[in-house]
Amino acid sequence: MENKEKYYYKDQVGINRKLKNSLNLQEIIEDRKGFVCYNSGGSSGTLRCDENSVSGAVSQRACVYCGARVVLNPITDAFHLIHGPIGCASYTWDLRGSLSSSSELFRNSFSTDLSETDVIFGGEKKLRAALDEIYDKFQPKVVFIYATCIVGVIGDDVDAVCCDAEKKYPNMRVIPVKSPGFSGNKATGYRAACDAILKLIGNKKSDKKIKGLNYLGDFNLAGEAWVIQSYLKEMGIQVIAKITGDSKCEELLKAPGASLNIVQCAGSMEYLAKKMQELYGIPYIRISFLGIEDTENSLLQIAHILGDEVVLEKAERFIEKEKRKVKDKINLYKKRLKGKKAAIYVGGGYKAISLIKQFKSLGIETVMVGTQTGKPRDYEIIKQITNPGTVILDDANPSELEKFMLEKGADILVGGVKERPLAYKLGVAFCDHNHERKHILSGFVGALNFAQEIDLTANSPVWNYV
Ligand code: SF4
Repeated sequence: MENKEKYYYKDQVGINRKLKNSLNLQEIIEDRKGFVCYNSGGSSGTLRCDENSVSGAVSQRACVYCGARVVLNPITDAFHLIHGPIGCASYTWDLRGSLSSSSELFRNSFSTDLSETDVIFGGEKKLRAALDEIYDKFQPKVVFIYATCIVGVIGDDVDAVCCDAEKKYPNMRVIPVKSPGFSGNKATGYRAACDAILKLIGNKKSDKKIKGLNYLGDFNLAGEAWVIQSYLKEMGIQVIAKITGDSKCEELLKAPGASLNIVQCAGSMEYLAKKMQELYGIPYIRISFLGIEDTENSLLQIAHILGDEVVLEKAERFIEKEKRKVKDKINLYKKRLKGKKAAIYVGGGYKAISLIKQFKSLGIETVMVGTQTGKPRDYEIIKQITNPGTVILDDANPSELEKFMLEKGADILVGGVKERPLAYKLGVAFCDHNHERKHILSGFVGALNFAQEIDLTANSPVWNYV
């Protein structure tokens, strides 16, 4: 390994020492050193990733249960019941919202509210009673039961309770989601959620394929799934099931009939796409609708796979028309943003890659980039498309993010709700690209919104007073 690519923190020229000292920034702890590197110019080196978090390192990742909830909660007409203490149930739609075109049932939070007595004598009785009450009051088509930490410890037989409930109420599917927080990391929760979706859909292969696709890994946070659905409609391509943004049980049951799966958030949904390939023979591709370049490439790729000459022609015409609409406005922001430096810390690797490209198209250099669940191939691409010296981190903690934002002089951080206070306390601008965003950041319209938001926050006069 070359000296310059050693995986360690080293003090560099340019760091604001006064701020560094006032924040008492620490060295990277020994066990984390393999998960952090400086890009040495695109050559392959082995950054550690796709592992459980280092104990005591204060990971920014959420727990297994939260990972499962992220994926399943956007199923709008499902009933989401958290079997555990009330605290786990506080992770609700209000924290990770997504939009619905019909049912609002998923916006409620339901819990068995396990207490000390239940921990001693078992919580199954309470769970059975909760299911009776749910059927009585709501008669939902499907109930997801999330087994949280304490249920994993006391060993309630959640499978048996779900099985009994399905016999008792034949019109209601009751699906366990094994998600005790200690049983892995957020990615384990994604897989548990995908298994629950497969359990709902069933193993039956569809004899007749429909000329259309399933859209995986878009959670319709601000209506993105609708925008992409409208783009595909313009091209003459039907969306069979959205998994899971604004999806409904009926829609999910039709998914095996699709001819193609497209995967936006690969970190959470590539596992499901692989399983659907095995079970239903549906091929899949990874796509990204973040930024003009990736949106254009993804739409053309889909048109090539699913369409004929006519579809391809429609796609090309549509792309040109949409690009024309936003080009001048984006160029305006580009002038205002030239020379700024960006830091990125997001969930998945594919999203980080799209954001790096999007920043590049705005004349912004990415100086730090990290993900919670990136895979080795994602980090390989990140190394190839960032400049030498860029800090790359997997499963970072607040201390590391602060340290490298200061060291690299980042003007803006793109992340999720947990990263917002880190940026603001350093006097760095912030863009929420996660569940707290309020406007669409996908597609051509999303590219314009993104440029506008970055300009608004990075060039805000407030930073002159920090
Ligand atoms: S770590 Fe355990 S107790 Fe905490 S929210 Fe997750 S499942 Fe609940």
